[in-house]
Amino acid sequence: MDERTELQRIGDGLDDHCAVRVKNRGIVVLDDTSPNESVQETENEQQRKPQRSAARQGKRPARRKGASRRPRPSRAQARIVDLSDGYLGQEKQVADAYPGASLTPDRHGVWLTAESEISTELDRSALFVIALPSTVQIEPRGWAFWKSDSGVTWIGRRHTNMVDGSVCAFHMKLDGAWQPGGDLRTLLDLYSVWALRHAHLEIFERWPGRQYAMPDEAGRCDPYYRLIEFRENELCSCGSDRRYGSCCRPRDLSLDFLAIKAQFDRRCRGARLLDRAPPSSLVSAMEQWPAITLPQISKAHLLLKHHLGLKQDSSNGSC
Ligand SMILES: [Zn+2]
Repeated sequence: MDERTELQRIGDGLDDHCAVRVKNRGIVVLDDTSPNESVQETENEQQRKPQRSAARQGKRPARRKGASRRPRPSRAQARIVDLSDGYLGQEKQVADAYPGASLTPDRHGVWLTAESEISTELDRSALFVIALPSTVQIEPRGWAFWKSDSGVTWIGRRHTNMVDGSVCAFHMKLDGAWQPGGDLRTLLDLYSVWALRHAHLEIFERWPGRQYAMPDEAGRCDPYYRLIEFRENELCSCGSDRRYGSCCRPRDLSLDFLAIKAQFDRRCRGARLLDRAPPSSLVSAMEQWPAITLPQISKAHLLLKHHLGLKQDSSNGSC
């Protein structure tokens, strides 16, 4: 089975809402176990949870053995909880699942860096660098790069956040796949599936599986965002199981394009979808992989910077 066939098979499976799981070293495979069977763990290869089925059911997946059991703090506790120790305590489990992965303490949190193979048949691997704030009030921001014989390059804009191009691998509220303070292996698994989707997009020119659109003022899928980002042969974001081209695109096209663009621009304070990009300091650092020197988390993570009062304006938005 060649790379295209295997990638295509997984992409078709994602379109059909089949579960995928992530093996050690970040290798993504379709989960062939039935939805009612528990996924077994082996000594050398801990199998990850079936991600799509968990997302589809809207349930938080069961924790794996050895996972952090830190409870999610209540709002009243949020100001005094420091997540950093819990993250740093996962270093061994993370390195077992993603060899070479490391956790680096920072004044305002922890940097997580890891390499993921994604697929044994791909001629490249993915590098993830994730800023994990110590406060539960600010969600992590992570960035993904391809590493190949030709060097290290940013994976790209699709399903990344405004304006910093950080990975949008899941929806914190809608599918609840991961929450701050959670198992970092699960977080890396979600990133690995996101990277596999990017490889599929690049090779087959189609984002595979369910996808979300940035919400508009009313909380509905933003039509301008969809017209710019989605391709006609991809699943629509409304949850209909139909392709965008034959589902919501005709309605999006019927709207006044300049008006919906103006609304989008206003909400994003002039930031443009095509301008998303990681902080240059991070790109420069990752180009030196594996001998990287990362910037301070508060300099790379715009929301954290805003939270700390280091910058007055932030036009970040969810993908
Ligand atoms: Zn639709």
